Amino acid sequence: MAAETKLVYPNTKVTLVHSREKLLSAEPLPDDFKDQTLALLRKGGVEAVMGNETTLKLSDDTELHASHVISAISKPTPTTTYLPKNVLDSEDLVRITLHSPNADRHLAIGDIAAWSGIKRCGGAMHMGHFAAINIHQHMLHSVGLIEQVGYKTLSDFPPAIGLALGDTAIGWWAEGGIQSGPKFLELMFGIDLGWSICWDHFGLGKGVESYVPAAIEKDAREADHTTDVVEGPPLMASEA
Ligand SMILES: Cc1cc2nc3c(=O)[nH]c(=O)nc-3n(C[C@H](O)[C@H](O)[C@H](O)COP(=O)(O)OP(=O)(O)OC[C@H]3O[C@@H](n4cnc5c(N)ncnc54)[C@H](O)[C@@H]3O)c2cc1C
Repeated sequence: MAAETKLVYPNTKVTLVHSREKLLSAEPLPDDFKDQTLALLRKGGVEAVMGNETTLKLSDDTELHASHVISAISKPTPTTTYLPKNVLDSEDLVRITLHSPNADRHLAIGDIAAWSGIKRCGGAMHMGHFAAINIHQHMLHSVGLIEQVGYKTLSDFPPAIGLALGDTAIGWWAEGGIQSGPKFLELMFGIDLGWSICWDHFGLGKGVESYVPAAIEKDAREADHTTDVVEGPPLMASEA
């Protein structure tokens, strides 16, 4: 966020204050990646104050004069207070288990789920994609349109990250190591912070008709529910 702000307002002084000695301190990433991220951030014109906790008056008594302060916390509190305690883990995230009440109908996806890897948009969208397919399969099976459900099973997410830092980006994953630079920015985020990549991946600009699998269309024609299925739920769009 600091790098994007600096990119959009290059004449504005942007200072990132971080309580730990390294950026991304809560994430299971190599120190080298964290150091290079900080270096790229500074190269992009962001001033970074490390190892300080307060914002306007820092713990080393330095005072910062700012027109805006954006508080960004790395350990947000999950909004799961409405759920029974026995479905939550020690961090109040929803445990993914078949033993929860109504486990076949209650799905927890995204940040709220106790799942491996770093919590980020890509993971949340991937879970949403699979959940939509599974809900749809469940519905088709419930109304007798398919005999066998083709559920998607989510694998563990290994730690991986891609950070846009203004006009550059840096990323890390176990096999690829650290990658950075403007070309990496284009590869990971295109020219609009990944908006078009997500739009295209989920086929959001396409009509629902093009996603009705041929077998279901055939079943639907033969069944009495033709109209219901062919006009089908927009969830089908996520099967692209
Ligand atoms: C400061 C910050 C920076 C981040 N930067 C990145 C990044 O650069 N790249 C990246 O991939 N990820 C980033 N993330 C992580 C990313 O934002 C999350 O992983 C992602 O948004 C999770 O999506 P979600 O749909 O699970 O949850 P959310 O996006 O949090 O959506 C949950 C929604 O549910 C609503 N809600 C909550 N409780 C209720 C209720 N009881 N009833 C109805 N609605 C409710 C909330 O208001 C919210 O709109 C960042 C997160 C933070 C905090």
